[in-house]
Amino acid sequence: MAQPAVSFHPLFKIHTIILFIVLNLAAIVFIIRRHLAKKYEFDYKIQQLQEKVNVLSEQITREGRVKSAQEARKNRYQSLKKLIEGINKEFDQVGAADKLINAAFSLIAENRGACLLYLVDKQSQRLSLFKVKKENRGMVIKAKEGDIFDSWVLRHTAPLFVEDVSKDYRFDTGRAKEYEKRQVGSLISAPLVTDQGLIGVMRLEQTEANFYSQDDLRFLSTICDLGAVALESSELYKRIEDLATHDSLTTFTTRGYFLEALKEEVKRGLRLKGAFSLMMVDIDYFKKYNDRFGHSAGDEVLKILSRILKENLAKLHPMISRYGGEEFSVILLGINKQEAVRAAVELCVKVEKEKIVLRRQETGITISIGVAAFPEDAQDAEGLIKKSDDAMYRAKERGRNRVCSA
Ligand code: GH3
Ligand code: MG
Ligand code: MG
Repeated sequence: MAQPAVSFHPLFKIHTIILFIVLNLAAIVFIIRRHLAKKYEFDYKIQQLQEKVNVLSEQITREGRVKSAQEARKNRYQSLKKLIEGINKEFDQVGAADKLINAAFSLIAENRGACLLYLVDKQSQRLSLFKVKKENRGMVIKAKEGDIFDSWVLRHTAPLFVEDVSKDYRFDTGRAKEYEKRQVGSLISAPLVTDQGLIGVMRLEQTEANFYSQDDLRFLSTICDLGAVALESSELYKRIEDLATHDSLTTFTTRGYFLEALKEEVKRGLRLKGAFSLMMVDIDYFKKYNDRFGHSAGDEVLKILSRILKENLAKLHPMISRYGGEEFSVILLGINKQEAVRAAVELCVKVEKEKIVLRRQETGITISIGVAAFPEDAQDAEGLIKKSDDAMYRAKERGRNRVCSA
């Protein structure tokens, strides 16, 4: 007997299909939600990792910056050592100033903008521009006596840091056309101070604002401290050298300096086949003048004669020395004997005409001059001196107030 076919109620069928779909949908939703949850978790982890990477890379950059800043600082201070060694060997003020300004310009400003060194003029007690180093050769620095910024450093004897010239409330640069032309955006400036007080100001300026850092200013101050000592000792050295090579009454060079210079000129003359003349100038009867008017009047006469020699021989570019008490030697490079004799005769006339007033009394002097020339009269220093001296004594013998040549 045939089994009756199992038949479901049609509603049952629909319910089964719906249930199937719902279950499938639920499974899909479940899978999607799990997937999404995993994705969020994954994204979150990525985000966390990214943050870690960011922190680390920031740290690396910061450390890199610190390291390169430390490296730059190390380089700067190593250069400072070289600068100290360099300026210690420098006895010349211009040479020392050159080294200082070069160091500041290259080590701090990376050779950009301008570096200005002002020194205090001892007489006027005002700043005077001594050296400039600038990126743009066409840049004209008009403030030869410094400006509001330099005056500030002079007044406060302290370093100055101006990050942005246009925004610094301490200075009114609105009226200063100078800044518009030079377009100063930022600057640092430091004083050069010694035991004697402030001797100068060094400043770095830049067209951009916010160019310098506090570390730059500290470094500039260190250079200025070194500079003050170097400039002071080079000035002292120059004064000592001047004392040794220059006569204080007449300001001419001394006999020792003249003898060395003459030897050098003879050597050069022999090497280059050059010609020059030598004059020996002596005041006539000067002993009598002193006896009559006093020694200090005699000193005054020596000063007056020095001025006449300087003024009247200027165009011949002479090298004048005080050879002895009232005797002067004059080297005239490139001047032959004939020209030298002509200049000597003019000198005698000038001196004779000069009225020297002493206590309302008109007095005067005359001079006698001997001339010899290189190479025709002698080819060594001693020979030339003897020839011109002999010629001068001949002028004395022949009645004084005249010129004789070898
Ligand atoms: P002349 O040269 O014409 O033969 O006579 P003179 O009197 O000038 O000769 P002498 O060389 O004998 O004397 C030089 C004098 O110059 C001696 C000294 O009184 C004077 N004299 C030298 N140096 C100075 C000085 O620095 N100041 C003054 N006031 N006099 C000086
Ligand atoms: Mg004399
Ligand atoms: Mg004499």
